[in-house]
Amino acid sequence: MREYKDIKLKDRNTFGIDAVCAEMIEYAGVEDLKELFARGVFGSRWMVLSGGSNILFTEDFDGVLLHPVDSDIRITGECGDMVSVRATAGTDWDRFVGWSVANGLWGAENLSAIPGLVGASPVQNIGAYGVEVKDIIRSVELFAVDTGKEVTVAGAHCDFGYRDSIFKRSLKGKVIITAVNFELSRRENPVLGYGDLYEKTRMLGGATLENIRRAVVGIRDAKLPDPKVMGNAGSFFKNPVVPEETALELKAKYADMPIYPSQQSGCVKLAAGWLIDKSGWKGRSLGRVGIHERQALVIVNLGGATGKEVVEFATRIQADVQYKFGVWIDTEVNIV
Ligand SMILES: Cc1cc2nc3c(=O)[nH]c(=O)nc-3n(C[C@H](O)[C@H](O)[C@H](O)COP(=O)(O)OP(=O)(O)OC[C@H]3O[C@@H](n4cnc5c(N)ncnc54)[C@H](O)[C@@H]3O)c2cc1C
Repeated sequence: MREYKDIKLKDRNTFGIDAVCAEMIEYAGVEDLKELFARGVFGSRWMVLSGGSNILFTEDFDGVLLHPVDSDIRITGECGDMVSVRATAGTDWDRFVGWSVANGLWGAENLSAIPGLVGASPVQNIGAYGVEVKDIIRSVELFAVDTGKEVTVAGAHCDFGYRDSIFKRSLKGKVIITAVNFELSRRENPVLGYGDLYEKTRMLGGATLENIRRAVVGIRDAKLPDPKVMGNAGSFFKNPVVPEETALELKAKYADMPIYPSQQSGCVKLAAGWLIDKSGWKGRSLGRVGIHERQALVIVNLGGATGKEVVEFATRIQADVQYKFGVWIDTEVNIV
């Protein structure tokens, strides 16, 4: 375990916000967490800072930031085509995906190149190109900060939804995810229905695991800004889920408005990027904050922006979308 005081967070959040935290502790797993529990660390302000790719700091953090550093991936069981794999919270997410692909295991390949660590992946049920991490999670191992005990929760009980889970709601601030148990398959199961993934994979020579991973990485590189070059946290907003009637009323007015199916019955998903563009925000910036030119969902730090400036910018966009379409777009990023 390593402990630091007054740590600069600029290089520890992909938005590149120049905040400071009073204390940071790098811990290596459950034994370290038990020691921190015995020391009473969870009695004062604390939070897990994992890869920092879904967090916006609006001020300095006056508590303890806990950062997992344990990185381990291993096969824990096999049954027919199904292979159980356990990865610890501090494992880089894309290392896990690359490992799965290299071992001929299907399920995670569409989630290639999503920044962050494995322990954060269930929090917002990360998703991309028609796959969500819930599709491959068997269970999540937790450390309960009120009792100091370890608990395992089945994926089916994590209340996963669109960029949502029990960890963002009733268990927020009560547990630390220490490992995730995945169920992957040796049987080919390409999911290529989303956007131009089928075409890109075909151009690479067909739907092998390696080609799907390469295609996803290529599409992402072309579409999303690299946080090392321009600070951002990926999609800042979630696509709004609205009742079907609301969508039909809007469609009557805006014939070109995209509508997508939603897992919520009686509801559909609208494209937040389209709503933002049509509200007059395409490519706009205000001071040190802007909308990425190729992806309206992504707010970028143009250099030296504060978290408060980002929030002000985002709030204006939300208000304009609400005014024009009567639809509220929620934030996906965790604002601290
Ligand atoms: C360029 C870019 C592209 C992106 N693309 C996608 C995408 O395609 N799909 C997608 O879903 N997301 C995407 N994201 C968002 C982000 O990568 C994911 O949300 C990722 O899972 C965050 O991981 P992290 O380790 O950086 O978490 P952090 O940002 O450090 O933390 C996120 C939240 O989870 C909590 N948390 C983290 N670890 C734990 C833990 N072990 N136990 C309890 N709570 C924890 C934190 O306290 C915080 O509230 C993108 C981000 C960027 C910058």
